[in-house]
Amino acid sequence: MKRVEETTGHPWWVVHRAHLHAGLVEVAIKEGADIIIGSTVTRLDHESGHQVLVETSKGKIYHFDLLIGSDGIKSIVRKTLFPDVKPTPPTTNCAYRALIPYTQVQKDPVACTLVKRPTMEVWMTENAYIISYPISDGTQLNLVLSHHRPHPVASVEEVDMDEFRATYQDFDPRIKRIVDMVPSAKRWPLLVTGPLDTWSNPNKKVVLIGDAAHSMVNHMAQGAATSMEDGAFLAKCVGEVVKGNMNLREAVALYEKERMPRAYEKQQISFLNGQFWQLPEGPEQEARDRAMKPELEGRPFIRSPNLYGDPSTVLEVYGYDAERHAEEAIRRWKTGKEERNERTGVTKRLEDKHFNWFKPKANL
Ligand SMILES: Cc1cc2nc3c(=O)[nH]c(=O)nc-3n(C[C@H](O)[C@H](O)[C@H](O)COP(=O)(O)OP(=O)(O)OC[C@H]3O[C@@H](n4cnc5c(N)ncnc54)[C@H](O)[C@@H]3O)c2cc1C
Repeated sequence: MKRVEETTGHPWWVVHRAHLHAGLVEVAIKEGADIIIGSTVTRLDHESGHQVLVETSKGKIYHFDLLIGSDGIKSIVRKTLFPDVKPTPPTTNCAYRALIPYTQVQKDPVACTLVKRPTMEVWMTENAYIISYPISDGTQLNLVLSHHRPHPVASVEEVDMDEFRATYQDFDPRIKRIVDMVPSAKRWPLLVTGPLDTWSNPNKKVVLIGDAAHSMVNHMAQGAATSMEDGAFLAKCVGEVVKGNMNLREAVALYEKERMPRAYEKQQISFLNGQFWQLPEGPEQEARDRAMKPELEGRPFIRSPNLYGDPSTVLEVYGYDAERHAEEAIRRWKTGKEERNERTGVTKRLEDKHFNWFKPKANL
């Protein structure tokens, strides 16, 4: 994580979901948003009027110039726009999630060695893995426990804890002791949405972001991150509408053009990483282990099947700046050209990628 932070110039945060929500609420209020809770959207009409009509469970009607459907995997906005789209599990893979207090792990004579440093650990085997990392300022250890079932799982399930423990009984004793500390767990489906042909309605007054548009398997931990990238990008485009430089239709079209391929790539990279981490024993698994060795042994490497550590994937995933991308795309839309250094002819995109990351800030 430290190396990623040093080269991208951004912190790598692993955050408790509730803390992320609290932070987003705080910022939204500060920015002047009205937050209405306990008010489920039950219907929308985007075809009859000039504006989009939204009705809630409280019987209230709202009208909007633009409706952003950020309502997750069961999105009513997506169901209204694209009733035939169904998020589906691509395989029989699913996941348990658990939180264990650090203090509990620290007291265990065997497992305590795993929490000496705040690191991310992955324990992989055929058709299963466990990833662990600290959240909540290092007070809780977050576990995601991947496994397969005989059939694809499409909804959250209650779990028999004996079965839960049996899945990981042959894992290394250090992580197995932590698994045994989990008091209860649910089984989470891993559902993929799309890739869709469009994320908006024909008049572009309704648009999807996040899981509603592109839910993905969890193996790169990028679902929420990608949702926020969408938000950051779309905000820049809507900002141009507010400034009078674009109309809403153009802003939504630009967002879709630029973000749809990126989200699809994240979906594919996420799937691939899960595939690599759960390869069945055999020649492919042996080749993976050999290819991962330099990274694990701290030797120089330029590729790794561990996509969390693979240098080009790290730059694509963690080095990606959604706002910078939006600014570049808006400029290209306005001028028809990429921004270039007038003297050298090198595009700003390539300067950012290869030069500006190490240049002293004062010279940027
Ligand atoms: C096992 C597992 C592990 C994961 N781990 C990670 C991880 O480590 N990192 C990561 O980045 N992502 C992870 N994800 C994915 C992440 O949870 C999602 O990608 C993310 O929550 C999507 O954000 P969203 O805002 O699009 O949707 P959501 O978080 O689902 O939010 C949608 C919101 O809309 C509301 N809503 C829904 N319908 C209505 C309605 N009709 N009216 C009003 N409100 C409505 C819901 O109440 C909810 O608040 C994981 C997912 C799984 C299953």
